[in-house]
Amino acid sequence: QPELVIEDLHVSVDGKPIVRGFSLTMRGGEIHAIMGPNGAGKSTVAQAIMGHPRYEVTRGRVLLNGEDLLQLSVDERARRGLFLAMQYPSEIPGVTNADFLRAAINARRPADSPIPLTEFMKQLNEALALLEMDVKMAGRSVNEGFSGGEKKRNEILQMLLLKPTVAILDEVDSGLDIDALKVVARGITHLASPERIFLLITHYERILQYVEPNFVHVMMQGRIVKSGGPELARELEARGYDWIREELGITD
Ligand code: ADP
Ligand code: MG
Ligand code: MG
Repeated sequence: QPELVIEDLHVSVDGKPIVRGFSLTMRGGEIHAIMGPNGAGKSTVAQAIMGHPRYEVTRGRVLLNGEDLLQLSVDERARRGLFLAMQYPSEIPGVTNADFLRAAINARRPADSPIPLTEFMKQLNEALALLEMDVKMAGRSVNEGFSGGEKKRNEILQMLLLKPTVAILDEVDSGLDIDALKVVARGITHLASPERIFLLITHYERILQYVEPNFVHVMMQGRIVKSGGPELARELEARGYDWIREELGITD
């Protein structure tokens, strides 16, 4: 079973310290949620783990099964099974969804054994059906002209096909109506297994009504300030974040 250990992570953006001492250990089969107010540094943690060049790690380690991911290139991290569904997915004009997905799958396989086309089509069609996505979505340019909800579904489609070891989903629930939310939750539940770690980043607890996390963490000022079980998410939804600020004497 995989284990991801984030140790005392510090990340700066444009020279400004954003993440300041973020530590978290996650094991296979666990679903963790990170909640917190806007600007707490949630997306910054996700981008730093994935290796986005703008996010400068100034201290700390991110160990997947004992190997420090921070020493690896973005491609190498992806090949180790890291996946990030982004808060704002990019458009890739001129590249069809199907071609993009097949290339991404093959990048994670040995060069001499690409996925057979028939096998790829089978997996793609199963994933499209599970997510109630039109088959036509496979032939369209990646995210180009997609609605917000379609982009989020498309991130989940990628996740289903790539079957990551560590899936980080950044506000995958924002901008979704209830039906789309249920479909996205179904994709996550479908993939959840002892072989995988899920990290759900969310401002509200909407997605957590459909995917029950094992652990909920509150992030403020660049670090985890409180952890609990699923009941913590419900408490935050009911009471907001101010009571935690007061409890901890945070005055920003
Ligand atoms: P959250 O996801 O919790 O809302 P972010 O990680 O997006 O928080 O942002 C935390 C802080 O870092 C914010 O003050 C934000 O302005 C700043 N920040 C994050 N990413 C960038 C970026 N690419 N360029 C400039 N500032 C950024
Ligand atoms: Mg934000
Ligand atoms: Mg964010």
